Amino acid sequence: MQVFKFGGASVREAEGVRNVGRILFAYADEPLVIVVSAMGKTTDALEHVLALSVRGEDYRPALNTLHQNHRDILLALFPTTHPVFAEVAAYFDGLPAHLALKASYDFVYDQVVSVGELVSTTILFHYLRLHHASVAWLDARRVIRTDGTFREGKVRWKETEKNRNVVTDLLAQYKWVVTQGFIGRTEKGETTTLGRDGSDFSAAIFASLLAAASVTIWKDVPGVMNADPKRLPSAVVFDQLPFREAAEMTYYGANVIHPKTIKPLANRQIPLFVRSFAQPDLPGTRIREGRVDFLPPLIVFKDNQCLISCKVTDYSFVTEEQLGFVFSVVSRLGIKINLMQNSAISFSFCTDYDEQKVTRLIEELSQQFEVYYNTPLTLITVKNYDAATQAKYQRMPGLVLEQSSRSTLQVLVRGL
Ligand code: ASP
Ligand code: MG
Repeated sequence: MQVFKFGGASVREAEGVRNVGRILFAYADEPLVIVVSAMGKTTDALEHVLALSVRGEDYRPALNTLHQNHRDILLALFPTTHPVFAEVAAYFDGLPAHLALKASYDFVYDQVVSVGELVSTTILFHYLRLHHASVAWLDARRVIRTDGTFREGKVRWKETEKNRNVVTDLLAQYKWVVTQGFIGRTEKGETTTLGRDGSDFSAAIFASLLAAASVTIWKDVPGVMNADPKRLPSAVVFDQLPFREAAEMTYYGANVIHPKTIKPLANRQIPLFVRSFAQPDLPGTRIREGRVDFLPPLIVFKDNQCLISCKVTDYSFVTEEQLGFVFSVVSRLGIKINLMQNSAISFSFCTDYDEQKVTRLIEELSQQFEVYYNTPLTLITVKNYDAATQAKYQRMPGLVLEQSSRSTLQVLVRGL
């Protein structure tokens, strides 16, 4: 049994759905769990509808446009008498009731935004059926249990594992199961989401649960590349990549796979393939346990960084107590440190620039330090650097800070 995951870009229009169908029918004899995201930019559009509703503005035109976009896809794929039209309409017609809920923003968000995945899987399921696939539609919320952290549901693994039968029973009757990425349910039956871009993680959850032979994420890139080809046209596709390197890439800011995806797969030694839905004949990248002998330098750009420097105000030095104070403020405000460096009289760290958070951070740190900050900066991380990449990045114009270990070089630069 394999798990396939198709992202929003792969099903953004009718031709995309047909293409996914072609990819799948090449595996007609294999049991598959097929995890699908919302179509195209549907999640953004639903967020926008919610924002309008929260501001008390008229959200109906935006909602109608979104429904119409889905109807256009249906019209291209199905005869107009097909029941899929009514099923999809029912999801959209249910949204005003969700939007009117008197509950916390995060709760309402999950009830609203989860509709994107329910709709996309309904469409793909009916499309595959229409073309005679042996396929079942599964509500992922029957399987994935989370806690009540709306918008960022934490998976309850034990409870989730108890629902394994729901999937295996379907796989005993049908070749394929189509289900949603991104969504789950609390013990109390409330819908949750796993965080933006969480569908990769859903695929890993299903794979782990079912001890799948592998997971394949079908993307709009030919595989995992050693740099963003839009920034470095010389970027190359990795044939193979150890789990550890892939996990570190996501940590440094590469957005090729959702960061939570790797751990459940690595724990169970389930290989992860990243392949191109536009060029399904290419082998893509295989991510797996173990070492890979030669890896080209891996370069990750993380924009919108802010460097914060805390200077002691008298002629004393930075003490452990003061560092303790910095970390307690940082952790209380939920700030993630991407790089840090200290000297005798100052402690500096780099974080994503979120104006509100950084303003509060500076306010609080100013109780004990003279605080300086510098933004917007780009953090460039080069893993497995060689002489050429070292020379290039250490001499970057606009360099603000640099740090290197034996394997990893990081520079913070201005004006990229
Ligand atoms: N549709 C969700 C999002 O756009 C989940 C995903 O795409 O993975 O964030
Ligand atoms: Mg998406």
